[in-house]
Amino acid sequence: MKIEGLDAIKVLNSRSEETIAVYVKTSKGRVSAASPSGKSKGKYEINQFSSKGINFSISFLSLIGKRLIDDKIVLEKFEDLEKVENLIKEYDKSGNFEFLGGNALFALESALLKAMALENGAELWKFLNPKANALPRSLGNAIGGGMHTQKDLKSDVQEFLLCPETKNFYDSYFINLQAYKELKKKLIEYDKNWDGELTDEKAMASSLPTEYTFTLIRDVSKIIEKKYKFKLQYGMDMAASTFFEGKTYVYRNLPKKLDSKKQLEYLSKLIKEHNLFYVEDPFQEDDFESFSKLLKKTKNCLIVGDDLTVTNLERLKKAVQMKSINAIIIKPNQNGSLLRTKEVVDFAHKNKIITIISHRSGETSDSTISDLAVAWKIPFIKTGILGRERLAKLDRLMKIEREIGA
Ligand code: PEP
Ligand code: MG
Repeated sequence: MKIEGLDAIKVLNSRSEETIAVYVKTSKGRVSAASPSGKSKGKYEINQFSSKGINFSISFLSLIGKRLIDDKIVLEKFEDLEKVENLIKEYDKSGNFEFLGGNALFALESALLKAMALENGAELWKFLNPKANALPRSLGNAIGGGMHTQKDLKSDVQEFLLCPETKNFYDSYFINLQAYKELKKKLIEYDKNWDGELTDEKAMASSLPTEYTFTLIRDVSKIIEKKYKFKLQYGMDMAASTFFEGKTYVYRNLPKKLDSKKQLEYLSKLIKEHNLFYVEDPFQEDDFESFSKLLKKTKNCLIVGDDLTVTNLERLKKAVQMKSINAIIIKPNQNGSLLRTKEVVDFAHKNKIITIISHRSGETSDSTISDLAVAWKIPFIKTGILGRERLAKLDRLMKIEREIGA
């Protein structure tokens, strides 16, 4: 593939924050990709943009585009992204692409991959893996709080997540939507403080305590099972780093402060009593040990690293060695490089760690992660239930489902 043009521009994400989109032109046409942004970011993620600012990242991308064109660099397959990364390393000596920024690199590599796929006349997922034949299961954020809403009285838990057990992706999307509607009726009835406000990911920004919310979700799961004959599993992203202060977890909804030992007791009880199948970031991002203790105490629950592991191979290796997790969130812009992201996914699968590819709270309509989920055989995708930017990814998966079935 010969690149004829490459433009990087500023665009706004769903939270109206600036981010980067990259356009690539070849003889076959023009493609684009854009990066999302996190709010409850892990402290070990790389910066989204250069420390010199977003404009610097954009000029840097323009320079790389010019070099790719002038040096007539040929890109034909996924592994050829290494040629691009080697070029970047001539200028970015940080060792982790931080001088360019994670959002800049992810948008660049995604756009280049889309251009390679177009050149091959293939859909992105098929270009990456012609043998791919399965869709991920959908994890949908229905009720939320934490850093994803500005309200005063709110849930301490960042995301209450629903995961229907269905055979196909369309059903999974449909069931999450029905469950969302049922939950909305419950909130209107039981949460007198809820004014209809939604979180950044379009989940309902309830003010109810955690335990109470899970009882409502359990009731809804019963309604769904009875009406549609599908099981609805559920869990949460606690994003515990966001309310860890000094040595304690500071809960504000039902005010209480828990040290790590008490947090462990509280969570194992919560998982058992409410039959949770998924718990993300139950402890702060440096506490590999408490993660291990919780994993040891639980059966049939995914203990998931996000801020803990930040899509970083070294941190995943540590988590595997310490038996801290049995599942990991994959967010490509946490490290920027799709080559590195793929290494993390492969290492996880080799070590029987379940992978969950994820959107960010500030999203664009880019749907690259949907194609990556299918191509890399990632069994779960966390990408919300409502909202244009979330629907873009769900719609893409429904389209891929038809292509795979055809
Ligand atoms: C998350 O913590 O899983 C998440 C999606 O939040 P953010 O994008 O704000 O980091
Ligand atoms: Mg998370």
